[in-house]
This record gives sequence, C-alpha cells and structure tokens, in this order.
Amino acid sequence: MLLEHHGNAAVVGGGTFLLPRMTRHLLEYEHVVDLKDLGLRQITSTDGEIEIGASVSYVDVLESDLLRSNLALLPRMARGITGGRQITQQGTLVGAVCFHFPTTDAPGAVFALDAMVDIHGPDGRRSVPISDFLIDAFVVDLRPGEFVSSMRFAPQPSGGYCKVKHSTGSWPIVTASAVPGPGGSVRITLGAVESLPVVVTVEDPLDRTELKHRVDSAITAPWSDVLAPGSYRADIAAAVARRAVEDLMGVPK
Ligand SMILES: Cc1cc2nc3c(=O)[nH]c(=O)nc-3n(C[C@H](O)[C@H](O)[C@H](O)COP(=O)(O)OP(=O)(O)OC[C@H]3O[C@@H](n4cnc5c(N)ncnc54)[C@H](O)[C@@H]3O)c2cc1C
Repeated sequence: MLLEHHGNAAVVGGGTFLLPRMTRHLLEYEHVVDLKDLGLRQITSTDGEIEIGASVSYVDVLESDLLRSNLALLPRMARGITGGRQITQQGTLVGAVCFHFPTTDAPGAVFALDAMVDIHGPDGRRSVPISDFLIDAFVVDLRPGEFVSSMRFAPQPSGGYCKVKHSTGSWPIVTASAVPGPGGSVRITLGAVESLPVVVTVEDPLDRTELKHRVDSAITAPWSDVLAPGSYRADIAAAVARRAVEDLMGVPK
C-alpha cells in the first residue's frame, strides 16, 4: 500500500504528530497505514541487543524494567515528555524519530545510544545507523514503500539527561544526553540545538572549561524557531550539557 500510494499515504504510529497536521491540512494524505496490528508494541532482548518495536509508546518505555536496567537514558528522557497521558500513551519513540522534528526529545537520546534503525520495504529489510537515518530536519532515510519496524541498541545501563524548556508543559529548547565513553570520558549528544544532533566527547567530565569549549566550538549552525533563536540555544548548550553530565555522575543538584 505504501508503495502503491507513494506520496499519498502515511504510516501512522500513535498519530500525535500526523493527525493534528492532517486535521489542519498542513499534510494531505488520502491513505494512512496503521502499524498497530503488526505486533510491534514490544521491547525485547535478543543476542545482547535491546529491540524496541515501532508501536512502543512512551508509557511502554517508562514501564519497562528491561529498559530501566539496560538503557536507562530512554525512560529518563520519556519522563519529561509533555502533553499528558494522551501523548505518552499514544506517541511512539519510532514515530518521533521518523518525523525528526529537531526540537523534540527522542531523536537526540536515540542518537546518543547509537541506535540501529530496522526498515522494511518492497526490497526486504535493511538496517541503518541512526547517524545515517537522520538526514536533516524532517528528513530521514526512508525510500518509497518503506517503514521502520524497530530500533536496536547495545545495552548502555547509565545515562544522564537534561533539557531546558520554557515551562513544564512546553517542548524542549535544548536537550543533552550523556553516556560513559572510554577511559572515563563522557560522550554528550545535544538535541534541539541544530537540525541534527551534535556530539561532543569530554575527557574530563568535571572540567567545566573543557566542556564549555568543546560544546561551544561544536555548534556551528544553531536551530532557530518560535521557541528560541539559535543564538540563545548556542548560549545555553554548555550549561545543559554540564547538567546532563552531572545527572550521569549522580552529582547532587
Ligand atoms: C501536546 C503534545 C506534547 C508533546 N510534548 C512533547 C515533548 O515534550 N517532547 C517531545 O519530544 N515530543 C513531544 N511531543 C511530540 C511527540 O513526541 C510526538 O508527537 C510523538 O512521539 C510522535 O509519535 P507518533 O507515534 O504519534 O507519530 P505519528 O504522528 O504517528 O507519526 C509521525 C511521523 O512519523 C511517521 N511514522 C510514524 N511511525 C513510522 C514508522 N514506523 N515508519 C515510518 N514512518 C513512521 C508518520 O508517517 C509521520 O510522518 C508532543 C506532542 C503533542 C501533541
């Protein structure tokens, strides 16, 4: 169906991005292809990898013991998703990644965990690293007739997260995900700050000068929108990164 109606059909996950835009005629499709009967609302562990199916919602992420002990960053991130139960129950992690609205939480967090994205289509299955899947704001590597069936991750038990937003109910302006790197280093992935996630590694995570220098020099084309100008995002990114590192290291707030 996706191939036959290419350009006129959309996959629907939870529909929380798609349907409001269709209602307002910002997006026009005659067909929607709902994945919910494909059995993809599952979080499993196979051969040392954690697999999150396309229909897994934020609530599923929050309630998963498997994720809490193996990919702690994801429930940590999902705790801060706004919109109430309607959004967290319906909205999917995969849907957020496929839409790739830069000022959302999921793309940066999934990028920080080096997800592999599993794609099904007319030519069978292919897998793409998240760093290749996200091409630009609102642009991902999906060819005619394809949809994402799941994302796979190597376990990463520790993760720190921080986001800045205007108020409890608003969307992120800058996010930072921190995960341990080799030899005591920390890898920080900044979301919402450019059209694609920005990654920096700090050798000494408690050296604020190094962290600020690395973050400031990594941001070259900050994202501007109605929430904040790019200059503001660039200004606060190092502070958000530092708080994510402190969250990872358990530094008291
Ligand atoms: C009130 C409100 C508050 C929100 N607050 C936040 C917030 O605080 N932080 C945040 O990050 N986000 C927030 N969001 C956004 C939310 O994260 C997304 O709406 C949700 O994750 C999208 O998932 P979905 O399954 O509903 O996507 P859908 O709306 O179903 O789909 C989104 C897009 O991805 C495509 N798609 C979906 N699944 C697939 C698939 N498997 N394969 C290929 N393409 C697919 C669809 O065709 C569509 O283009 C909020 C949204 C609302 C409405």
